[in-house]
Amino acid sequence: MAEVLVYVDHVDGAVRKPTLELLTLARRIGEPVAVHLGAGADTAAATLAEYGAVKVLAADAPEFADYLVVPKVDALEAAYKAVSPAAVLVPSSAEGKEIAARLAVRIGSGIITDAVDLEAGDEGPVATQSVFAASYSTKSRVTKGTPVITVKPNSAAPEAAPAAGTVEQLAVAFGEQATGTKVVSRTPRESTGRPELTEAAIVVSGGRGVNGAENFPLIESLADSLGAAVGASRAAVDAGWYPHTNQVGQTGKSVSPQLYIAAGISGAIQHRAGMQTSKTIVAINKDAEAPIFELVDYGVVGDLFQVVPQLTEEITSRKG
Ligand SMILES: Cc1cc2nc3c(=O)[nH]c(=O)nc-3n(C[C@H](O)[C@H](O)[C@H](O)COP(=O)(O)OP(=O)(O)OC[C@H]3O[C@@H](n4cnc5c(N)ncnc54)[C@H](O)[C@@H]3O)c2cc1C
Repeated sequence: MAEVLVYVDHVDGAVRKPTLELLTLARRIGEPVAVHLGAGADTAAATLAEYGAVKVLAADAPEFADYLVVPKVDALEAAYKAVSPAAVLVPSSAEGKEIAARLAVRIGSGIITDAVDLEAGDEGPVATQSVFAASYSTKSRVTKGTPVITVKPNSAAPEAAPAAGTVEQLAVAFGEQATGTKVVSRTPRESTGRPELTEAAIVVSGGRGVNGAENFPLIESLADSLGAAVGASRAAVDAGWYPHTNQVGQTGKSVSPQLYIAAGISGAIQHRAGMQTSKTIVAINKDAEAPIFELVDYGVVGDLFQVVPQLTEEITSRKG
């Protein structure tokens, strides 16, 4: 069976969920071979094997942490040459897309970004993308070279399928450009204890209806009762009620969780663009005519200051 390279997103060997989703999707088109760069390959290998990696190609070098992107492209290209895979899958993060695009240029291949599903096809893997603010789904196939495909987080439920996961060292020769952009400092982001917005299985977002920074703890409490990430509309972040890093939409982050709850958000096209592929959408809005109700699975017409605390209380009591 053809091998499929899966680029591993991890923190010191702790594999992040989008990679497990990629391994699950990779198994539909071939045998997953994971590419692990940086420290922690031995730790990661157990998880990667559990989710179907037949092999883990590992390389560790200071360049991966000390310089931006290019050393990782050098390594992924080395893995590509070693394996001659049927496809290369990379998580759709900002960095992932840059790595994938650079690899595609180097190996003369077509690329598909932000896939939300992947299936085997007679002439190569077929990727589904959600386009035009998620108002259309398209299916495409790379027609030139080895398909390089980036896949959005939450596109598949990770399924375990134990495989060997044998760790093999990958020899990487860094090119001249590898040391072109040096990382000069790192400041860890203050942890909220909540999941990363773009990867979270549940997102609770607040909009202008939240009516002030002082009311955002209502949204945070509901999010915490569900183990969710917190998002916000542009109106809310522009008003300074919540950080810009939490903005969902066309000019913010794109999320695709299992459950998206929008409170006090009207559903403007630019907001939809960042959340419309969510599996289940719930809106709480006091205006029954709000456009958000056109796309929801469940809608609550009501005042969020009444509805959200009751919802939080009910969820918390059911958990207890
Ligand atoms: C180029 C461009 C890019 C943009 N990018 C983005 C983007 O990335 N993300 C984004 O979100 N927007 C973006 N926008 C802005 C977008 O057009 C909307 O203005 C914005 O999404 C509106 O935010 P909102 O829904 O919170 O506010 P509003 O549209 O004002 O809606 C507030 C809603 O809250 C409801 N409400 C009020 N009080 C309550 C209450 N007590 N209980 C329940 N409901 C209540 C109201 O009925 C209303 O429906 C962009 C715009 C442009 C032009």
